[in-house]
Amino acid sequence: MSVTGEFEELYGVEPEGVWAAPGRVNLIGEYTDLNDGFVMPMALPHTAVAAVARRTDGALRIHSADVEGGVVLLDLDSLEPLSGDTGWAAYPAGVAWALREAGHPVTGADIHISSTVPTGAGLSSSAALEVVTALALNDLFGLGLSRPELAVLAQRAENAFVGVPCGVMDQMASACSVAGHALHLDTRDLSCRQVPFDLAARGLRLLVVDTRVKHALGDGAYAERRAGCEAGARALGVRALRDVPYAHLSEALARLDDETVRRYVRHVVSDNERVVRTIALLDAGDVRAVGPVLTEGHVSLRDDLRVSCAELDLAVEAANAAGALGARMTGGGFGGSAVVLVESLAADAVAAAVEKAFAEAGYAAPGIFPAVPSEGARRLSG
Ligand code: ADP
Ligand code: MG
Repeated sequence: MSVTGEFEELYGVEPEGVWAAPGRVNLIGEYTDLNDGFVMPMALPHTAVAAVARRTDGALRIHSADVEGGVVLLDLDSLEPLSGDTGWAAYPAGVAWALREAGHPVTGADIHISSTVPTGAGLSSSAALEVVTALALNDLFGLGLSRPELAVLAQRAENAFVGVPCGVMDQMASACSVAGHALHLDTRDLSCRQVPFDLAARGLRLLVVDTRVKHALGDGAYAERRAGCEAGARALGVRALRDVPYAHLSEALARLDDETVRRYVRHVVSDNERVVRTIALLDAGDVRAVGPVLTEGHVSLRDDLRVSCAELDLAVEAANAAGALGARMTGGGFGGSAVVLVESLAADAVAAAVEKAFAEAGYAAPGIFPAVPSEGARRLSG
């Protein structure tokens, strides 16, 4: 059944509209968004779709086709940040909460969601959920907020309501991407540029390898990396690590006594430079040369930031050994997904090699699919 039909069955009225927001994959620039730096995500064809209708009685009714448990009934006036008792519904509810906190007149809604974004695979199913809710409420209540404003409110929902200390990349990618492009985003001022990234026209493919693992270690490690980066910025007397020019990296490293902080600084400053280098290569039409930059980024995430894991390392190694142009883990690490740049003609062989390596290692079969740079959040109907 369509989301509209499902909505009508649940709530007994027609939705006022249907919206979609995609998941994302990050091409290059990892943990740089915690440091005011550059990132380069693109939207996936996978989306969270929401059918929504306004209410005027302060009630929020939220349903997902993808989880058990029926409709979650909430009252806008009694939403409690960080309470944990709303479960998955904290993501859309947090968006309504953040909008109201910012003074926007949201008076209630019925929401039904259905998503094709794999959850917990580092592909931002959470941001898709937030952004689709934010865009729907923005349209229905005539709030007139820009895409970056919606992304920031969605991030605030995840940080302050759900309690996940994420950067703004995921929400910006979901809200602002354009098909056929990667998004060069400056996470300090949220300025963006759409960088043409038409892989198919060049005989190339970007594969996502979902390792299907998520190591519990990840949660604390993220906060620890964030704290380490902040310590590095303080020690170097800069507002954020993005303010350390790559040309001054060796000098900066020589001023740091803490070995761990030094590794984190080296990762962030060099990965920021890898984003700049990737953009220069794409602008010059030299897309194949991006491959080795991806692999360099992986080595930095593995050895300096130390957020990779055996499954991600194996995906990257097996893909490169089978002739990929380059590969890296993407997202927060400790599981989740890797991206692999590959000649279209070699894509099947590379995917088969990764699957074989996983089977030989005794790992669960990975999910492998091409990442086609897709459209950002949009209204589908209504
Ligand atoms: P990621 O964003 O990388 O997929 P997260 O842990 O940030 O992983 O977000 C996943 C969480 O988002 C899920 O555990 C669930 O609470 C929520 N979520 C995502 N998609 C859906 C959906 N379709 N229906 C209900 N909840 C969802
Ligand atoms: Mg997420």
